[in-house]
Amino acid sequence: MGEITDEFYDLVLYSQKLKIILEDNSQTIANKLHIDYLNSILNDTVVLKKLMESLWSNLKTNSWDIDLHYKKFYEKLPESKMCPFCALQNLIDSELGREDYDHLLFKAKYPLTSVCDNNIAPTCSECNRRFKKVVDVLFNDTERRKFRYPFVVKKSFEVQNLVITLDGSAHPDLELDNKGEWVINFVPEDDFNKSWFLTYDIKIRYESCVRNGYKKWIKELIRAARINENNINTNSLKTYINKYKENYKDLYAEYPIKLAYYNYIEKNMTTVLHEYMERIAI
Ligand SMILES: [Zn+2]
Repeated sequence: MGEITDEFYDLVLYSQKLKIILEDNSQTIANKLHIDYLNSILNDTVVLKKLMESLWSNLKTNSWDIDLHYKKFYEKLPESKMCPFCALQNLIDSELGREDYDHLLFKAKYPLTSVCDNNIAPTCSECNRRFKKVVDVLFNDTERRKFRYPFVVKKSFEVQNLVITLDGSAHPDLELDNKGEWVINFVPEDDFNKSWFLTYDIKIRYESCVRNGYKKWIKELIRAARINENNINTNSLKTYINKYKENYKDLYAEYPIKLAYYNYIEKNMTTVLHEYMERIAI
């Protein structure tokens, strides 16, 4: 038992270094955090189960007040109170309840990290239940992934080295059956952003967000332009979009897809697009 116990002990210590485990994919030791490996070195499935049950119940009763944690987390969120994983859904007011807590590393697969308090994070139920579910953020089939929060909660959401663009999209025009085509790009396409996109199905969700939101965003923009500017022509509208984006820069940091849309129409403004927008905003 001696050597096995030492290895298990080392893995317990290692399992608490969650940031390293998630972000450094050269750490092959992460393979050993899998429940099958742990059971194999303990040579007994009951031991691990009993140990984890006792740790979980201790965590629940003594050291972890989940409602209080959510209250503090919610207070720290910027005004729009968006989910830190998708920036699409509002999280519930902490006075009314609390959101799901997602285990970044799924508890049934990686039991040791489940008692690590930064392994659990409040997330909207859509991210947690409909999209991520039990996706393994460490491995994609056999390939080791890199994973981290795409949005960091500070004063406002701060996009970590991540820009969303709609380059390559075809905007709907005046023809009735034209619904346009929305292309969602993320820059850079690095390992972190890739695993985030795949884990939370970000591409299809952002595409749906633009498809269902762009008319509202046009109305908002054109109506503001009508109030603030005299005689809007295609060129002055383009300048106005730039001003409008600046005005709401802090807010848009929380809505990366809306900002991407305004960037797109600023860049691709034509008289046809302008005419279409004026009609939408009637
Ligand atoms: Zn979400």
